[in-house]
Amino acid sequence: MALNWLLICHGLVTLTVIISFLCGQWPIFQGTPIERLHHFITFGAYDYFLRFVGFVFGDKARSLVLSIERCCCDRPNPVMQVIYLAIIGATYYYIVKSSFRYIPGYYLGEVHKYTSLLAVGIGIVLFLLTSFSDPGTVKAGNVSEYLLAYPYDNIIYTEKECSTCKIPKPARSKHCSICNRCVARFDHHCGWMNNCIGERNTRYFLAFLLWHCLLCIYGAIALALIIAGRLKELRVVYILTVYYGVGNSFRSLAPHVAQWLLSSYNTQLLLMVFLVIVSLLLAGFFGYHANLCLTNTTTNETFKWEDYISWQRKLNEARVSAAALKASISGMSSEAKRPESKCKSFFRRSSLEDSQVVAKENKYDKGFFHNMFEVLFPLSTRPSFSQTKSKPS
Ligand SMILES: [Zn+2]
Ligand SMILES: [Zn+2]
Repeated sequence: MALNWLLICHGLVTLTVIISFLCGQWPIFQGTPIERLHHFITFGAYDYFLRFVGFVFGDKARSLVLSIERCCCDRPNPVMQVIYLAIIGATYYYIVKSSFRYIPGYYLGEVHKYTSLLAVGIGIVLFLLTSFSDPGTVKAGNVSEYLLAYPYDNIIYTEKECSTCKIPKPARSKHCSICNRCVARFDHHCGWMNNCIGERNTRYFLAFLLWHCLLCIYGAIALALIIAGRLKELRVVYILTVYYGVGNSFRSLAPHVAQWLLSSYNTQLLLMVFLVIVSLLLAGFFGYHANLCLTNTTTNETFKWEDYISWQRKLNEARVSAAALKASISGMSSEAKRPESKCKSFFRRSSLEDSQVVAKENKYDKGFFHNMFEVLFPLSTRPSFSQTKSKPS
């Protein structure tokens, strides 16, 4: 029984840490222990560690840690790629080692030994494709084509030059300080891929997320079917009811079956919990990115729009306040105004409320199908792209 509690506690702690790390900054967790744990994992723990190193080993050791951090986080490096390969390799290895001896089973055929390997192989191919493909590097040779393909909207993108690459900066592009290059339709720099996600590889990135989500669901269902098959093959329910006198109802059988599962198949259960958690996280991440693609926005642009909208709101509020001040001054100096009827004043919108309405005008959103087509067949991969050259200014 102690083992059961240990397993439940282990699962709950793992779930809390993963949710805090990945979702702790979400507005719904504001002010909760999840947000505090997120802060501790992402900043606090490292800060305490730096102080500890400085206190125990001196300033030189602290500088060494900081230079290692700069090398790992601010420069391209394969650390996260190795971690990804280790996670997928170790998970598949544990599944093979713990569960392949039950295949073929009551519910699962021999073929799943090979389809699982194929599914993992496709996952790794998609990972390599996203990691090593060109995200859409903007160079002197193709900048004029990109300038034509992505015109400035003069809202969040205006004509600019990249101060590092010394070439014009097409709309929707960004200079990645880690890779030290300008990337067209820049989404974000992905540490797991050690590559930027941009115009040419967003499609591979989306396929990677979707495939890995389906892969985890497949793994969890296959493990559940293996366990269900063992339950059937070993005639557990029959033995419990006939030899141990347990009542033949779900309510009386469930605790005994659960205890049998936890003692005999705990590796499979832990693997299932892990796969379900990862599949849920991947589904959320895929949903977020798919929605961005369908509205032809990038992660980088969502921050730009947030800044633009909050700046516009502040500007509007300042305008409304100035107008209200002006009106009150002129009202004080003029004769007393006719009082407004109660009904009219009830239905009148506050002028401050009006100032809150700031629309996002995404010039690049050209409808569901067009947006999806642009992600699947990037503009720079089409023959029409290389045939267009902007006129020299
Ligand atoms: Zn640049
Ligand atoms: Zn990058």
